[in-house]
Amino acid sequence: MGTCSENRKSVPELFGSSVFNDDVMQERLPKDVYRSLRKTIDEGKDLDLNVANAVANAMKDWAVEKGATHYTHWFQPLNGITAEKHDSFISPTSDGRVIMQFSGKELIKGEPDASSFPSGGLRATFEARGYTAWDPTSYAFVKGDSLYIPTAFCSYSGEVLDKKTPLLRSMEDLNVQALRILRLFGDQKAKRVITTVGPEQEYFLVDKALYDQRPDLRFTGRTLFGAKAPKGQELEDHYFGAIKPRVAAFMKDLDEELWKLGILAKTKHNEVAPAQHELAPIFTTTNIATDHNQLTMETMKNVAAKHGLVCLLHEKPFDGVNGSGKHNNWSISTDTGKNLLDPGKEPAKNTQFLLFLAAIIKGVDEYQDLLRISVASAGNDHRLGANEAPPAIISMFLGDELSAILESIEYDAPYVGAQQKKLETGVHVLPDLAMDTTDRNRTSPFAFTGNKFEFRMLGSAISISCPNIMLNTIAAEELRQFADKLEGSANLESDVRTLVRQVMQEHKRIIFNGDGYSEAWTQEAARRGLLNLRTTVDALPRYLDKKNVDLFTSHKIYTEAEMEARYETIMEEYCKTLNIEALTMSEMTRQDILLSVSGYVASLAKSVAAQRTVCAGLPCAAETALIKKLSGLLDQAYEKVEALDTLLADGKAESHNVLTSATYYKDTIIPAMEALRAVVDQMEVHVSSKYWPYPTYGDLMFKV
Ligand code: ADP
Ligand code: MG
Repeated sequence: MGTCSENRKSVPELFGSSVFNDDVMQERLPKDVYRSLRKTIDEGKDLDLNVANAVANAMKDWAVEKGATHYTHWFQPLNGITAEKHDSFISPTSDGRVIMQFSGKELIKGEPDASSFPSGGLRATFEARGYTAWDPTSYAFVKGDSLYIPTAFCSYSGEVLDKKTPLLRSMEDLNVQALRILRLFGDQKAKRVITTVGPEQEYFLVDKALYDQRPDLRFTGRTLFGAKAPKGQELEDHYFGAIKPRVAAFMKDLDEELWKLGILAKTKHNEVAPAQHELAPIFTTTNIATDHNQLTMETMKNVAAKHGLVCLLHEKPFDGVNGSGKHNNWSISTDTGKNLLDPGKEPAKNTQFLLFLAAIIKGVDEYQDLLRISVASAGNDHRLGANEAPPAIISMFLGDELSAILESIEYDAPYVGAQQKKLETGVHVLPDLAMDTTDRNRTSPFAFTGNKFEFRMLGSAISISCPNIMLNTIAAEELRQFADKLEGSANLESDVRTLVRQVMQEHKRIIFNGDGYSEAWTQEAARRGLLNLRTTVDALPRYLDKKNVDLFTSHKIYTEAEMEARYETIMEEYCKTLNIEALTMSEMTRQDILLSVSGYVASLAKSVAAQRTVCAGLPCAAETALIKKLSGLLDQAYEKVEALDTLLADGKAESHNVLTSATYYKDTIIPAMEALRAVVDQMEVHVSSKYWPYPTYGDLMFKV
């Protein structure tokens, strides 16, 4: 043990060792080049080609020392995952050798053949040109044998085809509007306002050998069949439980790989469902947090493979136990280090904070639909409202103290502050703890947690980009309206209070501090007129409502065409996902399940015959009953799979209108899939494990 750990790098040495970060830049770039680059990174100044050439060369030398032979423009197309095409650094010399070269031009701009990325009709396939542009605000890094350069991706005619560009635009937009507010309050020092995000990531680990035996996991990332195991999560013995050695080894490797990439992996623990776990990083700038979350998901998969495991990031890998989500902790702060969502010691007197809070309350209420849409996917439809995740209804939790302060403003009544309480442990050696003024609310989709909001509706597999584009843009819009009203105010304090009062009067319906999982809340929310958009198909058409198009076009985040493209892409992805799931179910049923069950029935029949040759007239009641039951179920399964295939073959699934197709999948295909599953799961319960063709829920969740 000793020798091994002595050879190891310490964590500070390991951290960021694969990243071309500020330290490396300072060390390797000439001073003036470094200064120009910093200006580009910090203030968005244009980069001239000489500087780019110097940076490219230094990057290449550094990457080659790290073993890199290639570089890639790494980007985030609309499919929500990342894309990369690798070019080597080699360049021929006149005497037939090669040298390693990398120019500023190659650093700044790439041109991947982009015809096969989803564009939602923005671009015909014959217009294959797409461009990637270096995003200097997110550091380059080495992974495997390539230098990775984070980039934005757009089409030849300039339409945005990725998830990074609008995110950067929304951050810039919020910066402009938030600075206007800060100036009102006399803050002349802050030069930049940034949003920060810490995304907590849930995932499952299953054994690779078992995974390989399940076509549903391989094709769709979730189990399409599977009877409940005798044990699930009911004992609540997994949550925060001791971590098994094999999982612990995976987590240790994962941490190290993430640290090398400069990712601030901080917290790891077991989650509620068996085989479910979570990783939380320390928060950082939204753009970088987004890149890092993509890298985290990818690294989880790669590291799992080294341990003979598979990491499942699907929102609902198993029925009957919790699925996986992502918590997007979001806040706003200044370059001078002030968190603008920190209420401070006396929130009632913190007018600036109350103004930011009011902006967010108003925004969340007015754009409930957008927040719901930002987390919409076929996978996440299984979670939202299923008593393991928030309902599909957007509401905000503020806690008692803030709610009371806002109420006092609304009714113009004095606010009597609560004294901070001490939590007395009653044990001499333990310290008494200062209590937070609000408890946690784990059932709220959008909860204030002290100095940030935790948006808890995200599915585990999605890019966090879209939810943050929505949050930033919505906040920017409300701050813009407030700044328009307040600039030139003669009595800021009183005008802000008037504004906050008005926001409360018009938007307090969005605030809900109770149990978001309860049926009573669903009814109450309906009475309040809050939206309850249950599925992706219910939610998505609202994306193109006028107020939403106005929001994004006026803030120059998207053009209307880009929004239509995004709508098409998500709807198409929904349809394709369900189509793959339905086809997989059909194939599993026809190729494995029917035969296995009928084989078991045949063996039972053989056994009956054998027993009766020994002793004619034996009742063989158990076998006979089972044969009858299974034979009946077999007929039903066949009928259901025939029905599913007939529905799939119906042209309606391939309508030219994506909404028609998606609605067909939701209303017709999903029920047919559920009907088939119900029969197959019943058969699984009655068939001998020797005959069942797949590893069971018990195997998958308890054999790691
Ligand atoms: P929990 O008890 O839910 O784990 P934490 O306070 O530890 O709560 O934070 C959870 C996540 O929130 C972490 O990823 C953390 O880095 C992130 N976070 C904390 N402060 C901020 C902030 N100001 N902005 C964005 N994310 C934050
Ligand atoms: Mg959390």
